[in-house]
Amino acid sequence: MIESPLLTPCMGYVAGKWQAAKSGSTVPVHNPATGEHLADVPDMGKGETLEAIGAAASSLETPLPRADRRRALEAIAAQLIEHREPLARIITQEHGKPLAEARAEVEYSSAFYSHFAGQLDRLGRQELDGRIRGCRWTIHHRPAGVAGLITPWNFPLAMFSKKLSAAVAAGCGVVVRPASLTPLSAIAFWRLAERAGLPPGMLNLVLGRSGPIGEVLCEHPAVRVISFTGSTDTGQILLRQTSPHIKRVAMELGGNAPFIVFDDADLTAAADALVANKFRCGGQTCVCANRVYVHKDVGPRFNEILAERVAALKVGNGLDDGVHVGPLINRFAFDKVAEHVRDALARGADRVVGYDPPRPEHDWGCFYPPTLLGGARPDMLVFQQETFGPVVAVATFESEDEVLRLANDTRYGLAAYVFTRDPARGGRCAERLSFGHVGINTGTGPAPEAPFGGMKQSGFGREGGVEGLLEFCEPQTVVEA
Ligand code: ADP
Repeated sequence: MIESPLLTPCMGYVAGKWQAAKSGSTVPVHNPATGEHLADVPDMGKGETLEAIGAAASSLETPLPRADRRRALEAIAAQLIEHREPLARIITQEHGKPLAEARAEVEYSSAFYSHFAGQLDRLGRQELDGRIRGCRWTIHHRPAGVAGLITPWNFPLAMFSKKLSAAVAAGCGVVVRPASLTPLSAIAFWRLAERAGLPPGMLNLVLGRSGPIGEVLCEHPAVRVISFTGSTDTGQILLRQTSPHIKRVAMELGGNAPFIVFDDADLTAAADALVANKFRCGGQTCVCANRVYVHKDVGPRFNEILAERVAALKVGNGLDDGVHVGPLINRFAFDKVAEHVRDALARGADRVVGYDPPRPEHDWGCFYPPTLLGGARPDMLVFQQETFGPVVAVATFESEDEVLRLANDTRYGLAAYVFTRDPARGGRCAERLSFGHVGINTGTGPAPEAPFGGMKQSGFGREGGVEGLLEFCEPQTVVEA
């Protein structure tokens, strides 16, 4: 069992109180590296979700002044930094990622609370110049209402923090439902958020099976915003559930990121960026490179540089020193990665680094060896779907037009990366790539200061920037004669 004052009590937080499930039932949480039984968390459902929505709605009856919201956001940001180490250990134990990455996740999460604390001035009343139709026009940014936030397991703290920070800044009441595989970071967060001075009932944490909780959030009339991060398939379910109720929806869905290396690129820098981007979180991020396209003239040299780096990656328990890649989240994830590699090899790819690992016997210890595949083609599963694992698949191309056509030939549009020494070409590519986030000579992902989100079936709505805040605000125009 995991021992931490931040996980005592290990419960949900509904209507300003730590609560067990009304049914008394719990769900175990395991360390995906070792199988250690970390904790049992409440298995809540419809009743607790209704109570949480009611509490969040009541908290909206007395609007919280902007100065109080700013103070609370700053307090949360500071609490996260102060407790960086215990939070990082909780993230690593429930998720498996290396401790250094977990620390970075805490800092990244904290930066969202600071960022939105700094954006609050944008929500002040805004009076339009002059008299329009003989009247005075004023715009107010009202909290949109109760927000339901549903998040996945790959960034147990950051995924809800990106949304929650904006929702608090907007003044919304909130119900968060984190992934069942990684609920502990959220519990620890609530212990710290309790100290931020927000009204009881404003922030609610509901733990339990996704289906019933998601359904209540999507269908309840008081919930005015649904913000979801996860797979495109689940996004479609939530869109269907919300559609009769006409509410604001933000969807951060899957990606299938192209990573393009032109013949004039700095190959070493490109390989370093690719390894950092691809193997972070064991390849289980929605922005990680999934389809690597290298110009044919530099393909062999690039693969050589890449192979050296991929072969040097150390796999293991994220708590151990020197580990770069942790376990996959469970056997389902392992089987998907193994199937993608099998399919690629059967269709003629060649495995430059890696081997076939035995199938794990449990949902833990699902370590997959970092793998480099050459000779990838568009018909292979590794290029058609998100592999979500430590596998790099590389194809070659001949011309700029060809590679841009290939890169855009996907239903997804989240992140893309281009490596070239020619700034004009970088600009041209960004303009023609239908992806919400484009890195030129960098593999870096989103930052709190900039809007982030998808095009096409990667979803709509943005996190970060000022746009992420406006997802939770309702602009109201008041016209006075
Ligand atoms: P991932 O593969 O990243 O877990 P999912 O879309 O399966 O992507 O899950 C993302 C989040 O959505 C998780 O917290 C999951 O439990 C939740 N989820 C899955 N199905 C539903 C559903 N029908 N209603 C509400 N939430 C769901």
